[in-house]
Amino acid sequence: MRTPVMAGNWKMYKTPQETRAFFEKFVPAVSGITGREIVICPPFVDLAAAVEATRGSRVEIGGQNLYWKKEGAFTGEISGPMIAATGAKWVIIGHSERRQYFGETDETVYQRIIAALEAGLKPIVCVGERLEERESGRTEEVLGTQFRDGIAKLTPEQFAKIVIAYEPVWAIGTGKTATPDIAEAAHKFLRGQAEAKYGKEAAAAVRILYGGSVKPDNTKALMSQEDIDGTLVGGASLDPGSFARIVDF
Ligand code: PEP
Repeated sequence: MRTPVMAGNWKMYKTPQETRAFFEKFVPAVSGITGREIVICPPFVDLAAAVEATRGSRVEIGGQNLYWKKEGAFTGEISGPMIAATGAKWVIIGHSERRQYFGETDETVYQRIIAALEAGLKPIVCVGERLEERESGRTEEVLGTQFRDGIAKLTPEQFAKIVIAYEPVWAIGTGKTATPDIAEAAHKFLRGQAEAKYGKEAAAAVRILYGGSVKPDNTKALMSQEDIDGTLVGGASLDPGSFARIVDF
């Protein structure tokens, strides 16, 4: 059985004060929910406040990115050990906004996964096709390349520690959720890639989350698909009531 991971990506929203206010409502709202891993990934400046506000609860905290060097003259960057030192446990890697606006590639995704694992962080590795790629029938080719170049260089031991997030770029922040069938087909394809590289058991164990306009009212249908093992939620994770309903799908 794969325990669902219900993760929130706050992107560039919320100050430390707003972070504390969120968790005052969110922590009690999810305290009775079992059988899920619950993760919130706020901006770096909020990590300490988020860790403090969730201490003793089942909610875990993650970063949204990391640089692959441990320290050095890399102005503006944050390393894996720095994120781990705040008490955060997870990190998102290769989000499509990082790929689109900040030049992230499959190669840098791979380097970041290695750095995250070395720091003891659990990586949520994002893959997904753009609209024109889907419309030209290239979805599987794109996902296959992202898997091969970003993920498949990991050893089996490393692969066992990652979570994958399928996030079709055309569904992120657009209100256009992939239908459960479209999402399931992509998840099945990704699990097939995992099986081809790492074998049946590893493929059956890896959690593959769906992300892209997940809302309280579409979570259940997505989560009822065989190969969807959780969600990565942007906009709807900013409101404690809305994200609590998603976690409680
Ligand atoms: C995301 O940021 O990963 C995301 C899926 O955003 P949204 O839920 O707002 O589409």
